[in-house]
Amino acid sequence: MDFTLNEEQQMIKDSAHKFAQENIAAYAEEGQETGKWPYHIWNQMSELGYTAVIVPEEFGGGAMSYFDSILIMEEFARADDAFATSYQVHNIICDMFMQFGTDTQKKTYLPMLASGEKMGAFALTEANAGSDAGGVQTRAVRDGDEWVINGTKIFITNAGVDNSLGVVLMCVTGENEKGRKEISSILVPKGTPGFIIGNKFQKVGWNIMDTRELMFEDCRVPVENLIGDEGKGLAQALHGLNLGRIDFGAIGTGVCQAAVDYSLEYAQQRVQFGKPIASFQAVAFMLADMNVNTELSRLMTWKAVTLKDQGLPHDTEATMAKLVASENAVKNVDMGFQIHGGYGFMKEYPISRLYQNAKILTIGEGTTEVCKIVISRAMGCR
Ligand SMILES: Cc1cc2nc3c(=O)[nH]c(=O)nc-3n(C[C@H](O)[C@H](O)[C@H](O)COP(=O)(O)OP(=O)(O)OC[C@H]3O[C@@H](n4cnc5c(N)ncnc54)[C@H](O)[C@@H]3O)c2cc1C
Repeated sequence: MDFTLNEEQQMIKDSAHKFAQENIAAYAEEGQETGKWPYHIWNQMSELGYTAVIVPEEFGGGAMSYFDSILIMEEFARADDAFATSYQVHNIICDMFMQFGTDTQKKTYLPMLASGEKMGAFALTEANAGSDAGGVQTRAVRDGDEWVINGTKIFITNAGVDNSLGVVLMCVTGENEKGRKEISSILVPKGTPGFIIGNKFQKVGWNIMDTRELMFEDCRVPVENLIGDEGKGLAQALHGLNLGRIDFGAIGTGVCQAAVDYSLEYAQQRVQFGKPIASFQAVAFMLADMNVNTELSRLMTWKAVTLKDQGLPHDTEATMAKLVASENAVKNVDMGFQIHGGYGFMKEYPISRLYQNAKILTIGEGTTEVCKIVISRAMGCR
């Protein structure tokens, strides 16, 4: 067991840190205020290969390990978790095509995703199907060589950006012999007639993320747009969720680290009673707790992703990493806010943005309660 990064991994982390601080962090406050997705940063990422890290070389990707990808993810989230999470959704779609796409789908879609020309989106959630993914009601009915899709999705990330590929849609395609719904993944390209993109949701945080309602009204796509086997959509979504939970482990760790960065610097500069507040034990102990929370989140994420790279079972570890990192992000940001005093409530201090953004990490990619269900079931609690 080796907990040190090798030279190449350190270089990946350092380069991602530099890029993220100079570009993503520099735009984060403006983006939170205006809600505008930063296409200029996406284009720079495309030139540097960040839009393609896990994609195989034959499709124009960087063929990096998942471990390398989460080193980047942590640094991007340390700069801005709203940006990192939009990027993470794109990576999940690359991975879905890599794992389940036909040869034609891989050749058609992976190069345009890898180059960043197109951005990926994934639509599972509906008004009455959030944690209960099996409750999906959007339906695709086969009509000759086409699927005819009707239904509505909510809270969908990236589908509304200018360079969206379209959406990988989870929808009911039939019922099995026990009467249970069969759910499949179907790609609905942007611009398909009957695919209506709603207005952006007004959110409490993560403002630069493009999050919308999507409507499908007699929307027709070719049968070849089915991804993988018919009826296997939920299994594919769970596969995506496992990678997503590792990503959220890295994103939560990045937020934990950012809270430490901003709060330590502030506590060393802010003087009260003639001393930097970092010298008061109450403040120093909060910083110590925040540092421990960050390291704990990072190590659990590294363990989960190492198991994934080794092809070993990692569902529970991914869920544990997501649970711990997201809860620690909320705790660290809360303590960081406390250390900033009244200044933390002012928009010019980045801890205020972290405060607006952190909470949603305990909801996306499986709520805290759903994570605990997964972990306790793996222990045998039924
Ligand atoms: C900004 C943003 C971006 C998003 N992007 C996407 C996206 O790109 N694609 C997509 O498909 N979805 C997306 N989502 C949706 C997100 O994945 C869901 O919000 C999440 O899965 C939770 O579902 P819900 O909001 O319906 O909450 P619910 O499932 O209604 O949960 C409400 C509460 O009930 C609890 N609960 C539910 N079931 C149980 C149970 N069995 N036992 C105990 N407690 C339970 C939950 O833990 C939670 O506390 C996004 C959401 C947001 C806010």
